[in-house]
Amino acid sequence: MSKVLVLPGDGIGKEIVAQALKVIERLNTDFNLSMELVHGLVGGSAYDETGSPLPQETLDAAHQCDSILLGAVGGYEWESLDRDLRPEKGLLGLRAEMDLFSNLRPAILYPQLASASTLKEEVVSGLDLMIVRELVGGIYFGQPRGIIEKDGQMYGFNTATYYQSEIERIGHSAFQIAQKRDKRVCSVDKANVLEIGEFWRGVMEGVAKDYPDVELTHMYADNAAMQLVRAPKQFDVMVTSNLFGDILSDCAAMLTGSIGMLPSASLNKNNYGMYEPIHGSAPDIAGQDLANPLATILSVSMMLRYSFNQLGIAEKIDAAVNKVLDQGYRTKDIASKGDKVVGTSEMGDLVVGALQ
Ligand code: NAD
Repeated sequence: MSKVLVLPGDGIGKEIVAQALKVIERLNTDFNLSMELVHGLVGGSAYDETGSPLPQETLDAAHQCDSILLGAVGGYEWESLDRDLRPEKGLLGLRAEMDLFSNLRPAILYPQLASASTLKEEVVSGLDLMIVRELVGGIYFGQPRGIIEKDGQMYGFNTATYYQSEIERIGHSAFQIAQKRDKRVCSVDKANVLEIGEFWRGVMEGVAKDYPDVELTHMYADNAAMQLVRAPKQFDVMVTSNLFGDILSDCAAMLTGSIGMLPSASLNKNNYGMYEPIHGSAPDIAGQDLANPLATILSVSMMLRYSFNQLGIAEKIDAAVNKVLDQGYRTKDIASKGDKVVGTSEMGDLVVGALQ
């Protein structure tokens, strides 16, 4: 029996997670999933109830569970709080506490939604790539850092750092994912101008020796950005540092043109994961039954695939989502002329009904 901590968070988080829970309940009753759910608070709603965006109770529950399903955090009402009390601290705190160093960001464009992309349909239709981003190291965390006075003027600085072990573990993560896909890894760096890039490249070459079945190529980050927009279907798995991954994964997400469709995972070395849609809490549409729940439902599929090795059930969820899209049902954010527009809750019910 797997135990999952459910953290709906703020804004549309509650509505979209409710749909994912409907799917889990159906899988539990009819498909022998046996997933136990534990409920907790995170983000602004946790702050309102407990004075902290990440209460100790949530941290304890995170340790007692096998993975986390998260909605989204944030909202206007908490924006003026001290940085340490803001909803986002809840997310960052969970990542740090559980050492979730491997961020998986798939960019999948369902053929039914190809017209939603700003790119030409033939460039993106059928796109299915995975960006593996190092999440807890690199220039975002490196020391020293600061803004100081120096040589009679102000001076700002950050430091990009990686230990060999940090690059190795994200490398292993990427290669193992590639083994379950098309067996190709493209490692992205700036080895032409940065020592840390040269180092990254060398360590990746070493990791690759453990995976003779997977092809490793390298690309400079600036070229990778161009190639993502020019011919994104050339990629299977891309692995990169925290900074480049932040930028490239948002770029890849936008290739699909539908923020409400994309799930993500952040994993630690034991394949414990936090699974969440890539979008935020969308306060502009919260409480109106307008949010697209599919990214959250697909986050459950990712959880089954990457943390619980239940590929068969994960495929059932993916197939159900495909079927509902094939039938022409869309939430407003992904609807075109002629589609059947449905609300958050009905979309959840449709996916539940399409599970076979
Ligand atoms: P957002 O992703 O919440 O919304 C951007 C736009 O996309 C909005 O117009 C929104 O209505 C739409 N949108 C997002 N998800 C949707 C869905 N499932 N269905 C339909 N439409 C959807 O980003 P934002 O507006 O920049 O941020 C809002 C809040 O969310 C902020 O407080 C921000 O800090 C927070 N945020 C949280 C996360 C997270 O929890 N991981 C990520 C990004 C932003």
